[in-house]
Amino acid sequence: MAHTIFRAWQTTYCFLILLAILGGCVTPRHGSVAILTSPSERLCSRHRIPLITGQIFKMSPPLPLVYPNPGWRRWANYYPNHLTLFESLVRSDEFPLAVFRTYCPLCQTELETHLDP
Ligand SMILES: [Zn+2]
Repeated sequence: MAHTIFRAWQTTYCFLILLAILGGCVTPRHGSVAILTSPSERLCSRHRIPLITGQIFKMSPPLPLVYPNPGWRRWANYYPNHLTLFESLVRSDEFPLAVFRTYCPLCQTELETHLDP
């Protein structure tokens, strides 16, 4: 009996580890797409201007579950160095945490322009 329970636990544990590994492989990640021109300067691959590091504001955890609409995803892929859905340039009740982040100001501005015409 104990052997059967241990076997079931072992199978479940291995399945969860496999699921975590596969999930990590397919999870889309937001990352900067930049051209490194020197150790201290990176250019936006879309706009060819230096990325800036500045103060932005984030949502506080736990982050909400957000499923971006297809329009957002299309423009977000087109402007690779924008802020995420959990970040904003403006502090508000929704985005209270101040952090420093590197991004392209043109990617952010143009993405917002396409989303809020
Ligand atoms: Zn850009």
